[in-house]
Amino acid sequence: MPTLSYVHHLFSLEQCQAYIHTLRWKDRPLQCPWCQSHNVGPWGTYHYQPGLKRYRCQEKDCKRTFNDLTGTLLDGSKRSLAHWILATFLLCLACSSRRIAREVGVHVRTSYRWCWWLRNAALSYEMHRQLEGTVEADDLYHTAGNKGQAKGGGKKSLGRQPRGRRKKREPGRGHYDKDRPAIIAWISRQGHVVIQATRDFTVKTVQKAADIAVQVGSRLYTDSASSYRALTGYEHAYVNHTKKEYARGDVHENRAECLFSLLKPYLRVFRGISKFNLPGYVGFFQFLCNFRQHNAFEQAELILQAALDPAIARRARQGEFVRCFDHFDLLQTVRN
Ligand SMILES: [Zn+2]
Repeated sequence: MPTLSYVHHLFSLEQCQAYIHTLRWKDRPLQCPWCQSHNVGPWGTYHYQPGLKRYRCQEKDCKRTFNDLTGTLLDGSKRSLAHWILATFLLCLACSSRRIAREVGVHVRTSYRWCWWLRNAALSYEMHRQLEGTVEADDLYHTAGNKGQAKGGGKKSLGRQPRGRRKKREPGRGHYDKDRPAIIAWISRQGHVVIQATRDFTVKTVQKAADIAVQVGSRLYTDSASSYRALTGYEHAYVNHTKKEYARGDVHENRAECLFSLLKPYLRVFRGISKFNLPGYVGFFQFLCNFRQHNAFEQAELILQAALDPAIARRARQGEFVRCFDHFDLLQTVRN
């Protein structure tokens, strides 16, 4: 028999509370989450959670109390801070929600919910990311079907034959309707990355994707796909893979190819992804790439700090950040 099953049982409650307290107020003024007033004072502690500081708003028509967790993603959770800190750390180590459930000791549905809230909080850092300078681009097609989308659970609600995963695919480019949407990666030579899941790879889509991801007037290096060649607004050079040309002086897209070689094993961990969730997974991978100078716990700290902002937490619970990453048009009509 193991002596201890969960590593977070070694975390001390006081230290976790002090850490969360620091993250909560580090870059934010102490203010009332109900009326935004700065006129607040200490108001003792709780009997059942002695380390959790309580405050009271001094404003005449508010007078409400709050603590470090009020309005944040962690507010109202029955699980301890240690659970949350460890779960966020494991999320940054690219664990699936089932793996996190096992390592943290919570129910699978709890960890699934946490994972999506935390991914949303992470994406708050990526909302206005736009690249400039020299930017490489490449595209990939990823199988993404209707996993977990059956109404009321169970199987046989797909309205189609199973895909036959092991069969050879039909030739040609992928498409959202064929359960094989495109993923376009833009990677600047300065190191920042934007990755988008799109319906298809037509000229119109790629132009729209480029306008979102790359500043007008930047230099683009791509392969010879016609959708890139039709792009307007950019200085463009390409290498011709069909002629076995992979680099011509400075012109190559090896960074983008390398990024995909990291993205593919990252997505494999989740064992099949629904096309509704693909933008969220890809967006979170973008966050991990853009903060790759940090180790996993430093990334987790960034996510926790965002999760402790009531304004971000409210939108994260609604899934708003992932929805902004959704570049499949018409998705809402499909979902409802
Ligand atoms: Zn108040």
